[in-house]
Amino acid sequence: MRVRYCGSLIVCLCASIAWSQQAPPAAAGAPAVKAVDPIAVMVGRLNLERYKATVKGLTQFGDRRQGTDRNKAAIDWIEAQLKSYGCTNTERIHYNYEPVARTGGGAGRRPGGADPSVGPGGSHRRGNIFPDSVNDDPMKQPDVKLRELNTPPSVPGPREEVYCTKIGSKHPDQMYILGAHMDGIGWGEAANDDGSGTALVMELARVFSSPDVVTDVSIRFALWNNEETGLNGAQAYVDQRKDLQGVESPAGSGKYPEPKWLGMVQHDMMMFDHGMPHKDGTMSKEQRPEADINIEYQVTSTYADAAMAMAHKFQLADDKYATDYPANVGPHMTNTDSTPFMNLTPSLSMREVERGAQMGSGWDPQHHQPTDVYSFYSDDDFRLGLNSAQTTLGAVAQLSGATLTAK
Ligand SMILES: [Zn+2]
Repeated sequence: MRVRYCGSLIVCLCASIAWSQQAPPAAAGAPAVKAVDPIAVMVGRLNLERYKATVKGLTQFGDRRQGTDRNKAAIDWIEAQLKSYGCTNTERIHYNYEPVARTGGGAGRRPGGADPSVGPGGSHRRGNIFPDSVNDDPMKQPDVKLRELNTPPSVPGPREEVYCTKIGSKHPDQMYILGAHMDGIGWGEAANDDGSGTALVMELARVFSSPDVVTDVSIRFALWNNEETGLNGAQAYVDQRKDLQGVESPAGSGKYPEPKWLGMVQHDMMMFDHGMPHKDGTMSKEQRPEADINIEYQVTSTYADAAMAMAHKFQLADDKYATDYPANVGPHMTNTDSTPFMNLTPSLSMREVERGAQMGSGWDPQHHQPTDVYSFYSDDDFRLGLNSAQTTLGAVAQLSGATLTAK
C-alpha cells in the first residue's frame, strides 16, 4: 500500500510540476496556490445538523403510511422543501394502488424454505440469525400521541409521489436517478426506514440545486411512495416512463421530460450498524466503530457488470469524501425501489447493512417496529447517514461532470 501511495504522490508531483510550467509566474513571496477540488466544496455543504433536521422534519408525519392523509401531507412538505432548495421543477407521478389479498402465509419472508442460511436476494446468512418481522400492533407504540397520529388506516385508491430534476448543461437528455422511499410502516416514525434515505436525497437535491453548481448530465431526485407494499410507486414510475427515455418533447424544444437513464441509486435505511445480534438476541447499544455503508448491486440483473463497476466508483468516492465510515460492495441488492430498474439500467442500493444476509438476520431490530423513532438514534447513527450522503454526492458529482462556477 505504501509503495502504491508513493507512486501516486510522484504522479501528483509530476502533474503539478507540469502545470506550474504552463502557469504564469507567481509573484515573489506569494503563497503557493493549492487547487481546490470543487466536489469537496460541494460535499462540504452537507452537515450533520442539517441532515438530522431533515429526518426530524419527516417524522412530524408519523409513519407516513401510504394511502393516508399523513402520507399526503408528507409529500406536500417534501415538495415544498425541494422548491425552497431551488429544485423548483417538481413533478408528480399519479397511479392507483389496490392492495392484493395475501395468500400463503408470508412465504416471501423465508426465501430458503427450511434452510436458515438462505437469505433474501440470493444472500448467505451466517452466525446468530434472528427474525426480521413487521409490527402490526398499535398498542406496542407507547407514545400515545404518535399512536393516534398513526391510527387512520390506509385507504385503497389514487396515489402520488414527487420528484425534481437538476437539468444537465451539456446532456439534458441523459440522467442519473437518486431515490429513497418516503412511506413507512410499523407504528413508529419511520425515522430510519426510510426517513434517513429520504432526507439524504433531499439534502443532495439542495446541494446540486445551488445556482453555482453545473452538471453535464441531469440528476433526478425521486421520493417514492408505496415501497412498503411491494415497490409499487417505483414500479409505476418505471411502467409510465421507461419508453419516454431520451425523447425530446415538444420536438425541437431542447427539453427531455424523461432523460435516458444512466443509472439508478436507491437509499434505504442509512443509520444503524451496531453489528450482529448477540447470541441471546440483544444488540450493542452503540454504533460499531467499524460500521460501514453497504453498496449493493444484484448479480442476476441484466446490468450486473455495469452496476458492479458503478458500485466501486461509489466505494472510491467514499474513500475520498466520506469523513468517518468506509463503504463496501456486495452482489445481493434486494427488497427496495432499485429492483424495478435493475434490468433497464445499472442499479444500486445504499444501506446501513447488507439487506439480505444482515438485515434479513435481525441486525436492525428497529426495522418496521415502533422503536424506529427519531429520538432512538445517536449522532453516531445519524453520522452514518451523513457519510452515505457524502459518498453519493461525491460519486454522482464525478459521474455527472459537476463543476462550480464563480459566484
Ligand atoms: Zn425501506
